[in-house]
Amino acid sequence: MLDKTLLQTKCPVCRREKQWRQSKIIVGQNGLFVVYHKCAFCSSASLMIVSKSARAEEEGRLVAMEVLTDLEPQEVQSSLEKAPLKADDILDIYQETQEK
Ligand SMILES: [Zn+2]
Repeated sequence: MLDKTLLQTKCPVCRREKQWRQSKIIVGQNGLFVVYHKCAFCSSASLMIVSKSARAEEEGRLVAMEVLTDLEPQEVQSSLEKAPLKADDILDIYQETQEK
């Protein structure tokens, strides 16, 4: 269900092609995916958050955003377990990013 084009991005820091074998899917439920990626070149860690659009008129569309993190995958996992992200939250963040 993940659109491959969403994932063919470059490292946000060093702009090199990502090595996806270094990635880890942390959450895969309710149409929400969080993919952890650590750059093989500069060691920057980022989270790719992919979610189904919550807007009815865009039913079935996927939205994706990426944020840099300094957490390890296990830490991301446990913070998500404490305060689960909802698709709506992701969409808000995504729309804010688009407006800038
Ligand atoms: Zn990099």
